[in-house]
Amino acid sequence: MTKQLRFIIISSIIVNFIITLIPFMQEKKSDKLIEMKGEAMTSKVVKSEKEWKEILTDDQYHVLREKGTERPFTGQYWNFAEKGSFKCAACDQVLFNSDTKFDAGCGWPSFYDVANNKNVTLKDDFSFGMHRIEVMCSNCGGHLGHLFDDGPKPTGQRYCINSVSIKFEKIEKEK
Ligand SMILES: [Zn+2]
Repeated sequence: MTKQLRFIIISSIIVNFIITLIPFMQEKKSDKLIEMKGEAMTSKVVKSEKEWKEILTDDQYHVLREKGTERPFTGQYWNFAEKGSFKCAACDQVLFNSDTKFDAGCGWPSFYDVANNKNVTLKDDFSFGMHRIEVMCSNCGGHLGHLFDDGPKPTGQRYCINSVSIKFEKIEKEK
């Protein structure tokens, strides 16, 4: 065997080895990308429907995850005037404050503003043959209710929210 032939054989083995390794290297890289995406999303609550079913009551699950609506004048907060904040029943993010709550006479808790614009997501909703704006928790994607433009001053907005989607937390008086 000449030196040249040996060189060709050895180098072709090396090249083959590298070629077979390339897909593995690429796979690893894409795994890492997915991992990184996962990390970036950890601030949001992501659960499977099975996990939500375990955490939420049947009524909460129906409204928050299946975009249901509780019957008017039946919820915990439509006729409720205590001072405090209202958090998402699924993930505890603060959504509304009692100082923007008003009686809209519709049988659902109503607010003319949100605690923080970042904490809710608004989305067009064309269900039931009408156009409404759906209000969701920005942290967990839970359905909260709808936004209408017939609210009182200063915003003129009415966030019509299901009691079952939120939970009240009383503000302790400062000493
Ligand atoms: Zn939430």
